[in-house]
Amino acid sequence: MTANTYDYLIIGGGTAGAVIAARLAEDPSLRVALLEAGPSDERDARVLPVRSWMALLGTELDFDYIIEPQARGNSAIRHSRARVLGGCSSHNSCIAFRAPDGDLQRWQAEGAAGWGAADCAPFFERVFERVHLEGIPDANRLNRALLEAGVQAGLPRLSFANDASFGEGVGLFRVNVKAGIRQSSSVAYLHPLHSLPPNLHVLTDTTVTRILLDDDNRAIGVESSRGILRAEREVILCAGAFDSPKLLLLSGIGPAAHLAEMDIPVRVDLPGVGEHLLDHPEGVVVWESSRPIPDPIVQLWEVGLFARTGIDPDPLPDLMCHFGLMPFTWHTEPAGYPTAEWGFSLTPNVCRARSEGTVRLASVDPTAPPRIDFRYFTDPDNYDERVMVEGVKAARRIAAQPALEEWIVRELAPGQSVQSDAEISAYVRATANTVYHPAGTCKIGADSDSLAVVDSALRVRGVAGLRVADASVFPSMTTVNPSMTVFMIGERCAALVRGEG
Ligand SMILES: Cc1cc2nc3c(=O)[nH]c(=O)nc-3n(C[C@H](O)[C@H](O)[C@H](O)COP(=O)(O)OP(=O)(O)OC[C@H]3O[C@@H](n4cnc5c(N)ncnc54)[C@H](O)[C@@H]3O)c2cc1C
Repeated sequence: MTANTYDYLIIGGGTAGAVIAARLAEDPSLRVALLEAGPSDERDARVLPVRSWMALLGTELDFDYIIEPQARGNSAIRHSRARVLGGCSSHNSCIAFRAPDGDLQRWQAEGAAGWGAADCAPFFERVFERVHLEGIPDANRLNRALLEAGVQAGLPRLSFANDASFGEGVGLFRVNVKAGIRQSSSVAYLHPLHSLPPNLHVLTDTTVTRILLDDDNRAIGVESSRGILRAEREVILCAGAFDSPKLLLLSGIGPAAHLAEMDIPVRVDLPGVGEHLLDHPEGVVVWESSRPIPDPIVQLWEVGLFARTGIDPDPLPDLMCHFGLMPFTWHTEPAGYPTAEWGFSLTPNVCRARSEGTVRLASVDPTAPPRIDFRYFTDPDNYDERVMVEGVKAARRIAAQPALEEWIVRELAPGQSVQSDAEISAYVRATANTVYHPAGTCKIGADSDSLAVVDSALRVRGVAGLRVADASVFPSMTTVNPSMTVFMIGERCAALVRGEG
């Protein structure tokens, strides 16, 4: 292979990027390079055991982005984004759901032609042939008490095994974990690195700073910390929901007014780049436990609860809670709420939150973090806030059931003094976190959608030879945790590139 010249350059060796690289390199005639800003995850004991995922937050393997001051949300939220091979699939808690059919039908209706449930099903199957999933064992006594409390509160017990369609209920998560080791995209698709085919170059510690376009607006390569690398066929951008729009903007592809403000020559005026930033905002109710949290523990957040609040007419649940085998007080303690040595938490989140934010450049310096403004809780009907208030009430209803009585000493946050909807809302907005699911900033959409960044084949509008494939292409948020859907997008992108799409 000519040094620095490939058929395909894939920017970002994360969740989707690693899948795409492995799949494209199955054709020995293609020269593929996977460019990853961070180091390899192979044999890294900080990364591979899923149990220690929370210890990775804020480390050198995390871009650890701050967000803009929020008018109605918590400005202290830090957005973890992994900087390591496997991307956030090397960082996350490995809760594994495929997007429910209803979400994908909505994507199709929103203009993502060919991304309906039946279209995506074979690509989920490809993922699950490669990525081992297993259920959290029904072995922890506190998890069991929570599950029983959910049933006592009237929720059905779910297995989450057939998660293409489901409604309300409570169950133990399935996780992409095998014997305690995360089955990230790098583990499942790239390891062991020494046995990769010779036509696939995995270039770690390689930061891309710009996508290079020729005079006809064809992507012909990238500028990187390793110098210029050339792509004879395509550049595929997989840097995630913050860094993919950032790289497009640095390359002159984005809203003309913002590019002008940054003194970047406009190559393609694409108004949707960095718009439509979505997330799952998350509140928390924390209790002091009467006794130490029992073993066994897989990854601390092992039970999920889905409910319909009645606010959203969609048949899918609009409220999800994760149950944490820990007092999750990151944002409640700084706000003055007490903590305890032993505790546990329920974290209500809005499954299809409607507030939308932006990703913009803070500087033309490619090493500068982007300006990330989620505008949490700013949707016009206060939908997000209303679902969240119902979520706190639902969490309290669960805690009031007999199965949890022997476990609970007291509610640490928000505490019994917080009762009215207005009080609950103020508490939740001040202490909210994120479930770390940013998406939507380069969304798929129809030609008629002025904010669509990529077409249904993931091709960037107005540029030849450039696709985006990662969580940024979500037309709208999945009801569930998104990583398996991002794996699916990787499989789908590889098939589209090969013309099999
Ligand atoms: C702490 C945490 C917990 C989570 N828990 C879960 C969970 O349990 N279940 C679930 O479904 N989802 C979870 N998620 C979300 C899920 O992991 C992400 O939505 C998904 O992995 C995103 O994949 P991606 O391909 O879009 O981006 P990423 O996986 O983030 O990949 C982007 C890659 O691009 C690289 N990169 C960025 N900029 C550059 C550049 N300029 N040059 C070269 N490389 C670059 C990055 O280093 C990274 O490797 C969690 C996320 C986090 C952060």
